[in-house]
Amino acid sequence: TREEPSHFGAGPAQLPTSVLQQAAKDLINFNNIGLGIGEISHRSKDATKVIEDAKAHLKELMHIPDTHEVFFMQGGGTTGFSSIASNLIAAYLGKTGEVAPAGYLVTGSWSKKSFDEAQRLYVPSEKIFDAKTFYHGKYGYIPPESQWEDKVKGKKFSYVYLCENETVHGVEWPRMPKCITDDPNIELVADLSSDVLSREIDVSQYGLIMAGAQKNIGLAGLTLYIIKKEILDNISKVSDEQLHKLGLPITPIAFHYPTVVKNNSAYNTIPIFTLHVMDLVFQHLLSKGGVQAQQAENEKKAKILYGALDEFSDFYNLPVDPSCRSSMNVVFTLKKEGLDDKFLQEAAALKLTGLKGHRSVGGFRASIYNAVSVESVEKLASFVKSFAQQHS
Ligand code: PMP
Repeated sequence: TREEPSHFGAGPAQLPTSVLQQAAKDLINFNNIGLGIGEISHRSKDATKVIEDAKAHLKELMHIPDTHEVFFMQGGGTTGFSSIASNLIAAYLGKTGEVAPAGYLVTGSWSKKSFDEAQRLYVPSEKIFDAKTFYHGKYGYIPPESQWEDKVKGKKFSYVYLCENETVHGVEWPRMPKCITDDPNIELVADLSSDVLSREIDVSQYGLIMAGAQKNIGLAGLTLYIIKKEILDNISKVSDEQLHKLGLPITPIAFHYPTVVKNNSAYNTIPIFTLHVMDLVFQHLLSKGGVQAQQAENEKKAKILYGALDEFSDFYNLPVDPSCRSSMNVVFTLKKEGLDDKFLQEAAALKLTGLKGHRSVGGFRASIYNAVSVESVEKLASFVKSFAQQHS
């Protein structure tokens, strides 16, 4: 057991203690079979049940319609960047017999990395916008649709990609852009690595959802995918030869979505312990009242923390425009120089950890994912206030 942590690291992140306690038991002796869950065949009855349970619980939590399929793959979000580009360009080819560019809505470093990977793989792709150009050359703002929808309307895209929550820059799409979701010819592809299950969404709006596990839903190593079945069918229509002739990338077999789905996520050895931890997180969330209850808690946490920082706006700088502040990653800096180390040291003395900002942006970042309690956020908010009072 352990004292309840107040850990604000961006990922891998804190998980519910009860989940870890159950996982620890199951690692040694799963369902009293005399073997740990990491020691059984990924095709055994017990392992298959873990896969089925994880899918069923996720479907229940996210109200996933029958038009969509859930699967899991190894590798993190970065593997997703590559597999999305190669699978989705094939899907468009399978559907239309044509190639069209992928459109990327770049709002921070993760969507930028994903765009860069599409380019590296020679998947035709373009930025629909780069939010930096709207905001003093920095990330921290999402331009309103009126400022970029002309670049989408009437145009063909193999898919349009966005990152719902930019973990490094603390920028979150408040809702999905209507000019994309209303267009029946555009498949919306979204990276939900740092906000999956943090708020209610309408899965039917998405062609594909991808989310690395290590923030809201489990341990590093597995990535969750939710895909429209029609996209799977379209990918299956395309041969490797066709792709090769067009100079398009051929997806490595372990990341070829139709192959993975056909084999119920066990085409190759799925890390079943990691998936079980994910399922335990799903069960934990269901027992807490599901995503709706979690969303209410997350909104409360964000309000408490942003409230404390805004109260001392002469002392703290919040670089993100209030219209797109993340409810998961609260990014801030101190206006006074020379106090950063002291802030971290005093926080650590109160057992508030993981607050250092990403190396590329500096300052501080408090990640308040699902497993971070309201009490932890209240503790942090009161520290934020007292630190400002002491040093103003
Ligand atoms: N997307 C987002 C939004 C992320 O926050 C991260 C990692 N922090 C990634 C993708 C990349 O994930 P991984 O390190 O698992 O490849």
